Amino acid sequence: CGIVGYVGPQSALDVVIAGLKRLEYRGYDSAGVAVLADGALATAKRAGKLVNLDKALAEAPLPTGSAGLGHTRWATHGAPNDTNAHPHLDNAGRVAVVHNGIIENFAALRAELAGRGHALASETDTEVVAHLLAEEFAGGGGLAEAMRRVCRRLQGAFTLVAVHADEPGTVVGARRNSPLVVGVGEGEAFLASDVAAFIAHTRDALELGQDQVVEARRDGVTVTGFDGTPAEVRTYRVDWDASA
Ligand code: GLU
Repeated sequence: CGIVGYVGPQSALDVVIAGLKRLEYRGYDSAGVAVLADGALATAKRAGKLVNLDKALAEAPLPTGSAGLGHTRWATHGAPNDTNAHPHLDNAGRVAVVHNGIIENFAALRAELAGRGHALASETDTEVVAHLLAEEFAGGGGLAEAMRRVCRRLQGAFTLVAVHADEPGTVVGARRNSPLVVGVGEGEAFLASDVAAFIAHTRDALELGQDQVVEARRDGVTVTGFDGTPAEVRTYRVDWDASA
């Protein structure tokens, strides 16, 4: 439902939580975050409103992180509980992914992954993406290339944002039939389902096109098609009043 990703010098945890709060108007049934700190992923997720996630974070604080992502979920596949809340991780806990939309061919992909020894923890259509990303990342080429390879295998509607503990300077996003906007700041970058999530930080934005992948780093963003063809990065100025 709502997605926020961040890489930069600020506390990724704080930027992501604040961004999720700006997206609360959309309605959701659970929420979660993952941050990259000290070469590892740290995650927290809870059914219910963001106040439940805030409580969990007060009891068991996460590191602030240099990159991170968060999600507010409107469940389509699997009950709205803590386990099915996003982010979803691979079995090694090295990759985290959040997703808006529906992966139509998730059942076939789950069966395929189970056949290769993956243990899927949730009932969601989303979790297959984390496991597939882990496999493709292990094949080399980096996280954005892994995302391109995975997206070519997915059917349905999706906005995806992912991080990998072995590539801590990058946040990657992808979209098909579901929106993803990129905010380009000074030495930082934001990915979100809606500009409201990052308007407090930057007004230089670009909308990801259909079937495109974005690789966001502190020093800029790179956009390609799912097939790897480079795409032009041209930002526009968001000028609507964000005080609402
Ligand atoms: N289909 C996914 C799920 O049920 C994502 C739902 C959403 O868009 O929030 O977990």
